[in-house]
Amino acid sequence: MDFSRIPALRARTVPPASHIIDGERRAASDGNTLDVTSPIDGNLLTTIPRGTAEDAEAAILSARSAFDDGRWSLLPPAARKKAMLKWADLIEAEAEELAVLGVRDNGTEIGMAFKAEPLSAVGTIRHFAEAIDKIYGEIAPTAPDALGLIHKQPVGVVGAIVPWNFPLMIGSWKLGPALAAGCTVVLKPAETASLTLVRLAELALDAGIPPGVLNVVTGEGSVVGAAIAESHDVDVLVFTGSGATGRRLLEASARSNLKRVYLELGGKSPNIVFADAPNLDEAAKVSAAGIFRNSGQVCIAGSRLLVERDIHDAFVQKLVAHAEAMQVGDPLDPGTNAGAVNSERQLLQNLAFIDEARAAGRNIATGGTRILQETGGTYMAPTIVTGVAADDRIVRDEVFGPVLTVQAFDTEDQAVALANGSDYGLAAGVWTSNLSRAHRMIKRIQAGVVHVNTYGGADITVPLSGVKQSGNGHDKSLHAFDKYLDLKTAWIKI
Ligand code: NAD
Repeated sequence: MDFSRIPALRARTVPPASHIIDGERRAASDGNTLDVTSPIDGNLLTTIPRGTAEDAEAAILSARSAFDDGRWSLLPPAARKKAMLKWADLIEAEAEELAVLGVRDNGTEIGMAFKAEPLSAVGTIRHFAEAIDKIYGEIAPTAPDALGLIHKQPVGVVGAIVPWNFPLMIGSWKLGPALAAGCTVVLKPAETASLTLVRLAELALDAGIPPGVLNVVTGEGSVVGAAIAESHDVDVLVFTGSGATGRRLLEASARSNLKRVYLELGGKSPNIVFADAPNLDEAAKVSAAGIFRNSGQVCIAGSRLLVERDIHDAFVQKLVAHAEAMQVGDPLDPGTNAGAVNSERQLLQNLAFIDEARAAGRNIATGGTRILQETGGTYMAPTIVTGVAADDRIVRDEVFGPVLTVQAFDTEDQAVALANGSDYGLAAGVWTSNLSRAHRMIKRIQAGVVHVNTYGGADITVPLSGVKQSGNGHDKSLHAFDKYLDLKTAWIKI
């Protein structure tokens, strides 16, 4: 990224955003808006439409007609590919604008946001666009007097509801495979991170993706999201967010048309450091980044550190040094390692966990406070809490902030028991130079992804999903198509 452009880009006035429904920019049906406050300084950035149930229904109707008349679903896959590749080019051409707009909206540090947001969306959209004209149906090995054909057909109208931590990255994990498959979409961004996704939908129109194929409705989850979840015209619901909302979506599906619901939910991911880790300095550095980048607002954040007792104190010291050396602050400063907490609400939730831990006599080894309040923004010091118990709320529940808990273990079995003693199962880390132990841990830990001698790191070619209460279904990789392509069979008598 050309960082010299940041001052000019951050000075831009952001016009009020609109829904994108049926190819048009629209206000909310009752004209109401929601203020968008920048977490950088607490100032009003712009407004978004405060969508109504009628807005959601209009978008669903548009997506339904666009699917049923085949303007997208019946195009040759190569034609969809062409439009989507053009779309990716347009996003890439605007990547710097999108990155800065997104940071002003959600507070992620620019160094991470530029790669993880627009550039990740570009890569994801290209990946699925390139794949779709290489996916074949099958002929079943039946007896010779019959022909069993297995077609792959788009499922129909997709409702996609996404969170605020990485709107473009997570949004494109849904949009890429859904649109490539030939589905049409109604997308509902989070209240505090809508602006870049609205722009993405405008660029889709510019790229020649027909009106109605990608609709975006902004507003509150309890209104717009709920209307999408309750709709009889939405065939599949794909969601990334909290478990509490995920439960509501399953209930809404049961109440309405039994639409399939795929959930990517939270995590409380264990990061397990054995004394035989190949390089404890590297382990400390990467583990600190694995919890504190984006102020801990990363679904796979390694938020529970489990350390072999022999090295507990020395390792915690190293981590504290990394935490205290992190530059927390203005997310548009390229030197910043951790930007703003997304909202005042989220920051207060984070601090409530710390207050509770303090009251229970836990040791706050570093951080635990709000910082930089004079900026008007929402910032929190990287925080490490030691001496915790397995049933403390700060150990059991996802904080979704820059908060690391530390527990000691003596044996591999104990490490596994602590790691798996969670309702969640999204990610994990294991640091060891013992190859056999690494493989044992990969098998025994209940998580969608187990990192070995690193934490984080990902690629669009590798699926992401959770087990237990971290969700179901897969985003990313060709496996993501399973959610958007139905198997349809034909049985032909010969
Ligand atoms: P959230 O559940 O509050 O909101 C997510 C989305 O759901 C938002 O768009 C919101 O408006 C909408 N929503 C809220 N209430 C709704 C309702 N009643 N009906 C329909 N929609 C509703 O979650 P959040 O705070 O925005 O996101 C943080 C959560 O997301 C964390 O738990 C985090 O771990 C999780 N997450 C998971 C992954 C993953 O891949 N597993 C990735 C990123 C974030």
